[in-house]
Amino acid sequence: MDEFAVIARYFTPVKNHAQSVLVGVGDDCALLNPPAGQQLVSSIDTLVEGVHFLPDTAADRLAWRLLGAAVSDLAAMGATPLWLSLSVTLPAVNESWLEAFSRELHRAVDKYALVLIGGDTSRGPLSLTAQVTGAVPPGRAMLRTGARVGDIVYVTGSLGDSRAGLALQQQEELPALDEDSRSYLLGRFFAPTPRWHEGELIRDLASSCIDISDGLLADLSHLLAASEAGAVLNLDALPLSAALQQAFPEHARDWALAGGEDFELCFTLPEHKVPVLESRLQLLSTPVTPVGVIVDQPGIRVRENNQVPYSIEPAGYRHF
Ligand code: ADP
Ligand code: MG
Repeated sequence: MDEFAVIARYFTPVKNHAQSVLVGVGDDCALLNPPAGQQLVSSIDTLVEGVHFLPDTAADRLAWRLLGAAVSDLAAMGATPLWLSLSVTLPAVNESWLEAFSRELHRAVDKYALVLIGGDTSRGPLSLTAQVTGAVPPGRAMLRTGARVGDIVYVTGSLGDSRAGLALQQQEELPALDEDSRSYLLGRFFAPTPRWHEGELIRDLASSCIDISDGLLADLSHLLAASEAGAVLNLDALPLSAALQQAFPEHARDWALAGGEDFELCFTLPEHKVPVLESRLQLLSTPVTPVGVIVDQPGIRVRENNQVPYSIEPAGYRHF
């Protein structure tokens, strides 16, 4: 199978009903119709074997991880997903790998409301790149820079579950755990739930937003640096799932603060907008939880049991 057969067989969408795509896979470029009056939002992410994932990671997991992270970036800006371009570099044409990867990729594309509009295919060490574009009404994109003293810090969903799902994969001695909790935690690891519906609902309310990919502390610290502010977090308020607490009671809090790949949103909200937020979120089943407040003093401090806050260092993965 040559490159063109690979593209035709695995990376050409069956049909395209998107109004925004005039020409998709197959020509030199995609030809696109941006939604009238909207701003475009764009992000690109690469996964390299041996750097972002272990050799022999299942192809289906890679597809969900790649798109989950990319769509989560759109969600963090409050953007509605539109288009995906995909670059794949493969050491060889391995049909069973391509079969699994592309099947799950197309499922993820559908689930996340994207259209695959093109890409690139070449030979080399395994590497996957997703470039996504979304749309927002003008001026409505949520930035990292807008947090102000007194704003409340919220997170969506629950934190630490994906790290627990990873542990269930890796650990030899597994905790006693009912089957529902086990599959819940594994699902949170294997199938990220980027919160773009939530992003759309809060984009005209939140003062700032970031998605949590490297852990709450690490990502919140980026938002705080951009906003030139600090935060005090209430550790007792962290949203921990019942499954996480049941499986890993001794790690739950650490993983909520610093476990990776939650793909939840962390956003800040002026206090007077809390009632609007609450009424609006009734449209969704995703919980949002206030976990802290923005303060003047830079950095992150945490408190528990209503004691005096103490400083904490954000630990997160860095490439260089
Ligand atoms: P070019 O030589 O002009 O770069 P390519 O041969 O790389 O064109 O690609 C041919 C068509 O297939 C283009 O429309 C391109 O966007 C699309 N394409 C290539 N690789 C992929 C891929 N992995 N996923 C989706 N579309 C792809
Ligand atoms: Mg090309």
